[in-house]
Amino acid sequence: MAGIYIHIPFCKQKCTYCDFHFSTSFKSYREKMIQAICLELTQRVDYLQNQSISTVYFGGGTPSLLTKEELKKIVDTVSKNYTVEEDFEFTLEANPDDITEAQLEMWKAAGVNRLSIGLQSFLQEDLDWMNRAHTAIESESAVRLAKKFGFQLTVDLIYGLPNRSLNDWKNNIQKLTSLDPEHISAYCLTIEKRTALHHMVDKGDLPQVSEDDQSEQFEMLLQEMNNAGYHQYEISNFAKGENYSRHNSNYWNGVDYLGIGPSAHSFDGKSRRWNIANNPKYIKGIFEGFSNHEDEILSSTDQFNELLLTGLRTKWGVNYKKLSELHKPSEAFIKQLNSFRSFGLIQEETDTILLTQKGKLQADYIAAMLFLEE
Ligand code: SF4
Repeated sequence: MAGIYIHIPFCKQKCTYCDFHFSTSFKSYREKMIQAICLELTQRVDYLQNQSISTVYFGGGTPSLLTKEELKKIVDTVSKNYTVEEDFEFTLEANPDDITEAQLEMWKAAGVNRLSIGLQSFLQEDLDWMNRAHTAIESESAVRLAKKFGFQLTVDLIYGLPNRSLNDWKNNIQKLTSLDPEHISAYCLTIEKRTALHHMVDKGDLPQVSEDDQSEQFEMLLQEMNNAGYHQYEISNFAKGENYSRHNSNYWNGVDYLGIGPSAHSFDGKSRRWNIANNPKYIKGIFEGFSNHEDEILSSTDQFNELLLTGLRTKWGVNYKKLSELHKPSEAFIKQLNSFRSFGLIQEETDTILLTQKGKLQADYIAAMLFLEE
């Protein structure tokens, strides 16, 4: 069992907060990029060592910009070269302004069974501020339409925006839960370097949102999700019933995956590699038969720390035995664990370390404090 991630590095416009790899001026090499992605899929066919494919994920960038022919070309290359399981999860990220009846029919015909909608907010002023390409009206109609076509849906929201009240956030969540998608992801706005947002902060044009306000919004999220019947299975991810993202759950559980396209990451259990985040250089490398990438062999300490970081964020927690097999926990680690336990931040259940509700508010900090050093 393994996954394939395909990165489509095109966007209509640049969102203020985004630091993913994409280009908004891609017309001249669009066709070459699709050819290169298909070629990379054939060149790296051995990476997953004949494991069957249980999930395929088109991310970006904006995969909903792909034409029918482009999508078909990539999907055909995957099915010709890999053993895809019959009930595989096939997710495509789509922006609301690209969701039309014709597109939904085309995605369905291509085999897509799950749409990840980058909605972010139902408030027009939020969308303007984020420089999103869609409108608030499109946010709502996109979810309704995609639902009508029977796709399994996951919808993204962003919180922690400056100048927004707790009530604005509550209304946003309630609006989304009333549309009843199977899965919701909610992320706190982070200010990444090399983004328009970072520039605004640097110039002093943007008020900083305090950690207390962000925590308050996160607590509101937990409460509203619970009220609407969603359960939190990862810090930022909520599902009705068992409608988990299989692709992302596999990442968190250490399943191998192949990342195709510029900037895409791959993992084979022992090492990670990532393709160059530069479209022309990526294409050139693929066509000339050498791969423009970097890689890193993961030491047992790296694997220990990754297991902690990802596991603590999930409802399944971290298996203590699995951790100990990678690295004997040090005295400092045990002392820190006991301290977090005494503050009510972690709990242990038959060999599993889990965060308490209070601990979930500081998940990454707790993991970082438990990290082992080389
Ligand atoms: S559409 Fe998505 S990938 Fe493109 S700029 Fe906006 S957030 Fe980034």
